[in-house]
Amino acid sequence: MDDIATTIGSATGKEWLNLGIGNPASIPEVQDTWQRLTSGALAASFGDVSCRYGSSRGLPELVDTIVDYFRGRYGWDVGPRNVVVGPGSQMLCFIAAALFTGPGASRDTRLVLPMTPDYTGYQGLSLTPGGITGVEPHVRIQGARSFRYLFDLATLEGLTDVGLMLLSSPSNPAGRSASRGELQRLVSAAQGHDVPLVVDNAYGAPFPGIGPSAAPVWDERVVNVFSVSKAGLPGERLGFAVGDEQYIEPIVSFMANSALHAPQLVQSTLAHALRSDALDTLVETVIGPFYAERRKFVESLLAEALPQDIAWRLHAAEGGMFCWVWVDEEWFDDLRLYETLKGRGVFVVPGRYFFTDIEHSRGLGRHPRQCFRISMTPDPDTIAAGVEVIAATLGDLCVGR
Ligand code: PLP
Repeated sequence: MDDIATTIGSATGKEWLNLGIGNPASIPEVQDTWQRLTSGALAASFGDVSCRYGSSRGLPELVDTIVDYFRGRYGWDVGPRNVVVGPGSQMLCFIAAALFTGPGASRDTRLVLPMTPDYTGYQGLSLTPGGITGVEPHVRIQGARSFRYLFDLATLEGLTDVGLMLLSSPSNPAGRSASRGELQRLVSAAQGHDVPLVVDNAYGAPFPGIGPSAAPVWDERVVNVFSVSKAGLPGERLGFAVGDEQYIEPIVSFMANSALHAPQLVQSTLAHALRSDALDTLVETVIGPFYAERRKFVESLLAEALPQDIAWRLHAAEGGMFCWVWVDEEWFDDLRLYETLKGRGVFVVPGRYFFTDIEHSRGLGRHPRQCFRISMTPDPDTIAAGVEVIAATLGDLCVGR
């Protein structure tokens, strides 16, 4: 995080090529739409929503709109008691972990990530040391330059003391989307452990819809978490969860005892964006095509620039904002690459931080130290210049091994 701050500030006077960022891309149509919708909410409801406390479940106008939206779009049999709005999906995941795992839960249990690598923001969700376990995937190589992670369901099912299962889909960092069948098998595992499965749709359907991910599933075991951050409003801090009352009600109580409720002007804005189809239109006509195009651009840059005689591979593109590169070479070390690149003015994110306990890796060997994440959201010139430096650096590290 200190490094991220370094690239934002100008104290160093250095122009960084930051390919590590998690901000969504700056897309003028997206910004214009949110600005217009926010102006509308400001004009219509500022006094009612910004100058008063509100409901801990969420602004009733938004909660009702979410109910109608999910009933209409996916046919889910939900009502207001299945919905809670929070200040960002990160906070909702934190609340779920605090409620359903660790000493605060009905039994002392762990937060389990059914597949690592997964979002680094999950690593700090447990207040108990050792309170998080990640299940390593099987790795399937697909051709010369591609690979894909597969769930290790046997290990997941065999774990003890599970309190909550949590995954991002499409995932940060690998861009892997769980299929409908895989989600069903995760639901069965959650049933076996008698725990909720939280699916974090931060990059998926219905918004921001980055990539061809499966529609979210409704099940009494599943708490689906959604966010408007990657659809263009990360600074406003707004997300919501839809799930069975047995899980949603404790989250509403937690909200009441902590934040009271999420900011309401942006809730009013989102209600309007959903009701008017403005958000769906944005996803279909702007955000989805933007990232599809961007992915093609970055993939072709990497294919052209990275050294041909090094065994590098990209995780299969199934959504999300990142390219996840695996350098399948004994000499490669993600931290060494990171430090060398930093010395050359480029930021990427080292892969090891997306795994939970690499010292005790069961079957992955050095793999967690052989990956790094590139963000697709900086402007194309920055990405192209950064990839050039990465390519040259890989060549240097290979020669100097
Ligand atoms: N979940 C995942 C998988 C993310 O990558 C991020 C941010 O990068 C978040 C959640 C945070 O989302 P929010 O801004 O809604 O808290």
